[in-house]
Amino acid sequence: MTGAWRRDAAGSREPSETLEKAEHLTSPRKLYVKSFGCQMNVYDSHRMADTLAPEGYVETASADDADLIVLNTCHIRENATQKIYSELGRLRTLKDAAALDGRRVTVAVAGCVAQAEGKEISRRAKHVDLVVGPQSYHRLPALLKRAEARRVVDTEFAVEDKFDALVAPSRDATRKRGVTAFVTVQEGCDKFCTFCVVPYTRGVEVSRPADKIVAEAARLADAGVREITLIGQNVNAYHGEGPDGRAWSLGRLLHRLADIPGIVRLRYTTSHPRDMDDELIAAHRDLPALMPHLHLPVQSGSDRMLEAMNRHHTAADYLKTIERLRAARPDIGFTSDFIVGFPGETEDDMQDTLRLIAEVGYASAYSFKYSPRPGTPAADMEQLPEAVKHERLQRLQDAIDREQAAFNERCRGRSFDVLFDKSGRLDGQIVGRTPYLQPVPVMAPATLIGEIHKVTITDIDGYSLFGTLSSLPPPERGRSPSEARRAGVEDRHDPLPTPPLFKGREPTTDAALKEKTI
Ligand code: SF4
Repeated sequence: MTGAWRRDAAGSREPSETLEKAEHLTSPRKLYVKSFGCQMNVYDSHRMADTLAPEGYVETASADDADLIVLNTCHIRENATQKIYSELGRLRTLKDAAALDGRRVTVAVAGCVAQAEGKEISRRAKHVDLVVGPQSYHRLPALLKRAEARRVVDTEFAVEDKFDALVAPSRDATRKRGVTAFVTVQEGCDKFCTFCVVPYTRGVEVSRPADKIVAEAARLADAGVREITLIGQNVNAYHGEGPDGRAWSLGRLLHRLADIPGIVRLRYTTSHPRDMDDELIAAHRDLPALMPHLHLPVQSGSDRMLEAMNRHHTAADYLKTIERLRAARPDIGFTSDFIVGFPGETEDDMQDTLRLIAEVGYASAYSFKYSPRPGTPAADMEQLPEAVKHERLQRLQDAIDREQAAFNERCRGRSFDVLFDKSGRLDGQIVGRTPYLQPVPVMAPATLIGEIHKVTITDIDGYSLFGTLSSLPPPERGRSPSEARRAGVEDRHDPLPTPPLFKGREPTTDAALKEKTI
């Protein structure tokens, strides 16, 4: 068959995969994927859609007109399972209504809740046609065929390489998803933190070969992606095979990716403090494309709690790593995750955590009340009363809010390179991200989307930054991002003054924190 062609806005012709596939179909089937949780799930949802595209599935933004609905679930947040059952209750009504109209709707549950609760979901929600674990997405077309006859549960850990079998996104699909993209480099975790289900739902650490990651990144760059975030449950434990046959570290991989024309920004998440090796820290010093922002979860500032959580590092180890990263890249900003109310946590442990927050001076952080995950060691430990957890979470969030407000305040009047990635809520407004991932709405033409421009931060409202476009110096005008990167003019910004780590900080109590911010 000859390829289908269509004209783009400029009048040139390009092969249209969508049109080509559509020739096989009387009408395309509509796919609605709802993603819960982390970036890994967003990435997986895209790859599921890519894998189903050759089967004639076209994505739709609403479940109401979908022929196939996939809930890509997350097990991390509290009551995750209950939320999925409520969502499934709504989908039963939708599926029944469609059946009355003579339309079949297939319902699939994917992700970590599917992996953990596969058979239970199938037992409790009879209208679910397919339950599929994260390691089986490449088998989706075959599983959906089987599910036409009877309900299917597939939560096996595949022996074959899932990433080899998943379909790569078309240029069109990549373009529609914008100028930033995630690339999974690693899956699974061997750390077995006592609160976490990931080692059970995603399995052991597996790293993708470096050349396959580089090929995927080059394809994305070719389709207009400018910023890539490497993702993995434990991304800095990456040890994929390099083209030289040796295991490459994440630092080495980042060096290789920074050479791809068009890629001007690199990030990675989520990291474990124990895996911040010398090569990775040096990459923060040596690679201008590696953004000066790192999400480095610590969970607690108390050594007693870190041990109970099986984190295999102390608060001092963590602070030392922060210090080394700041020495390598003085303008680096940190974000983190915290759990309060972990079994056995005392007020002294809580004070240790508040002290660590003040010492690091985070740009922002996520914080959670501990809630037991069935099957994890901490679920069997004696639990703290809810009221205690609630009160501590409130204090922790107040401390983080103050740090975030102080960090944002230090941005006022400064000029940052901002990568514009979407339209804003107002007419004539576009939104981009600073190197620290802060969103900044700016009044500027939509033609700047996909480009990096200097923006001066003029206002701060709560946690939002607002800015005005600074004019670029004449030599930089008209350069493509890759040309500008080669010329060394990209992503240079006024460094932020870094808060002192160990000097000049008074002992941190909640009251002391309050005083400091008044
Ligand atoms: S390192 Fe992260 S993913 Fe692994 S067990 Fe701990 S919290 Fe879970």
